[in-house]
Amino acid sequence: MSDAVEQPLYQARIPIYTRSVKGHFRNLKWGILGLAYSVYFLLPWLRWERNVGPDQAVLFDISARKFYLFGLVVHAQDLFWLAGLLMIAALLLFFVTGIAGRVFCGYFCFQTLWTDLYMLIERLVQGDRVARIRLDKAPRSVGKLLRKGTTHLLWLLAAFLTGLTFTLYWEDAPRLIVEWFTGKAPFAAYATVLFLTATTYVMAGLAREQVCTYMCPYARFQAVMFDADTRIVAYDAARGEGRSGRHRVARSFKTHEERQQQGIGDCIDCGYCVQVCPTGIDIRNGLQVQCISCALCIDACDTIMGSLGWGRGLVRYTSEKQAAGQPSRIWKPRTIGYGLVLLVAASALAWSVGNQAPLELSVVQLRQPLFVRLSDGRIQNSYELHMENKTDQPVDLVIMMRGLAGAQLDVGKLASLELPAQRSLRVLARVRWGSSQDLKGSRSFAFNIVPQRRTDLGMLSAPATFYLPGADY
Ligand code: SF4
Ligand code: SF4
Repeated sequence: MSDAVEQPLYQARIPIYTRSVKGHFRNLKWGILGLAYSVYFLLPWLRWERNVGPDQAVLFDISARKFYLFGLVVHAQDLFWLAGLLMIAALLLFFVTGIAGRVFCGYFCFQTLWTDLYMLIERLVQGDRVARIRLDKAPRSVGKLLRKGTTHLLWLLAAFLTGLTFTLYWEDAPRLIVEWFTGKAPFAAYATVLFLTATTYVMAGLAREQVCTYMCPYARFQAVMFDADTRIVAYDAARGEGRSGRHRVARSFKTHEERQQQGIGDCIDCGYCVQVCPTGIDIRNGLQVQCISCALCIDACDTIMGSLGWGRGLVRYTSEKQAAGQPSRIWKPRTIGYGLVLLVAASALAWSVGNQAPLELSVVQLRQPLFVRLSDGRIQNSYELHMENKTDQPVDLVIMMRGLAGAQLDVGKLASLELPAQRSLRVLARVRWGSSQDLKGSRSFAFNIVPQRRTDLGMLSAPATFYLPGADY
């Protein structure tokens, strides 16, 4: 008979009843939360005067393929900036994680910010840890139903406002909000709000720390960015455990002196650091994958140590080397390397944004057919010119070509045109050249667009190729 015991593959979530805490890190987290929420919820309502375009400071206009960021207009072809921005964000993450561990998770991550808000709502409606445990254990009653129902309703309201605000970044906010509540908004707006309401409610209200522990890939690969100098939240085991381990405050282990004489450490095993932890772990067991470096256990332990009149810092930010009494340094070749690459990438992006070309010209050769022979013997090639005016004023342009002596450029009536502000235009250009049967191969030339009456805008040139018969293309 086999002794094997069947283990279920799924473990149900063990509820975490976090306790409130006061302290420097909690205050810092409230400050960051307040700032992040102010920016997220108020930004779509901020107006910004432009000569051309919407008056919303931040607007991602998908239909016009333009992103408005205050004074900057990002056009579809500038989206490589987004790639640059993502690269900078990744480098910043490597750089900060190498120095200070998972501070991004603990202070800035959306999951942390929204879970903090949801926990606050829960606490305001149902009370602190002990009251919530009691409420969960209590039999069904109207009071319990009311408290639970109010909590979930407020969570849903917070989730709905989060989803609704997100859609306001993609359309003119005052108009969209009216359309949304009068049933005239696009279907995508309703679908987005519904999706974000559901995901926010589930992630921040129900799943919480499980998102960090099981779903977030960052928790898994952070270990490769850590080293012995990285600042992490850690328990000072030597001080906390002493020679004879931790012990609650009891008659003969009351004062610091009594405890030290008997080799008892400073940890009074009160469990406060565990009770405040949003991921429900015990920092005294060492660094764990669930730890998001929020430092609330530092605040909790400092509160206890402060009330006893013992030195704070039993749980603190430290590095593995510091904890072992060895010298530890933040600025190592790897950190400096990340910092330098980050600086170069950020400077390159800033330069690229600051030197955005006011006018753009690109040429596409029409290849069906690549060339035609006209009745007068000349060869004709066709091109599509794409011009874009990124300034906030209309520009008069003249289209020209150079490099094919004697060639004729035909752009219909558009040889000179006015290109409105923030607009683009496609023009069909035909080039006719040569009458001799001997011309073969291809020739390079260039299209030019020359701004009129605008000395600040220089002439723009784009290379092109003229194809002749007699060669394999
Ligand atoms: S162990 Fe401390 S720092 Fe880590 S998640 Fe828990 S409370 Fe935050
Ligand atoms: S809060 Fe401090 S004293 Fe209390 S159990 Fe945690 S480490 Fe020990």
